[in-house]
Amino acid sequence: MNRGFFPPAEPVSRLIDEFNKLPGIGPKSAARLAYHLLRMPEAEARSLAEAIIAVKDKIVLCSLCQNITDSDPYAICRSKQRDQNKICIVEEPLDILALERTGQYQGLYHVLHGVISPMEGIGPDDLKIRELLGRLKSGKVEEVILATNPNLEGEATAMYLQRLLSPSGIRMTSLARGLPVGGDLEYADEVTLGRALEGRREV
Ligand SMILES: [Zn+2]
Repeated sequence: MNRGFFPPAEPVSRLIDEFNKLPGIGPKSAARLAYHLLRMPEAEARSLAEAIIAVKDKIVLCSLCQNITDSDPYAICRSKQRDQNKICIVEEPLDILALERTGQYQGLYHVLHGVISPMEGIGPDDLKIRELLGRLKSGKVEEVILATNPNLEGEATAMYLQRLLSPSGIRMTSLARGLPVGGDLEYADEVTLGRALEGRREV
């Protein structure tokens, strides 16, 4: 029964629904964004739409570090300036951004693309661990830095890797305490994260 509520035109409703699927965007923000786009100059709206399509069309995972890149291998993996003997293991590509901002780290990275989470049915095989083991086989790596997030799942994942890698004899370190517990690396400020890197300890 129609009580007099008229939804927005179908293309607008559709856009609102799409925004509503994004993290941190509720129905009200979704509607606000959609109406904002409606007022946007045509060229700007097209540029936004093209940027969305480009990240899907042109982005692949680096065959070495598994970071998102538009050229495989990713720039850091190709760089002669980076220390090839160190690999810093992170959960997500965003963590690399956070660590790079500190300017303190000159080694390589490896992105797990998640954490072990029995609650969500995510096990070691769902992460990029096989790829990591493949990289370590070269024998060039002298230090592995476990930089998962300082929360329960991050710690459990680090512990799993520690046990898995300890027979290799590779030096393993983790970031120093002082990072906000329960938080994400990506939210830590550069100074805190830089200090945590500098003060990393053996595990
Ligand atoms: Zn790479």
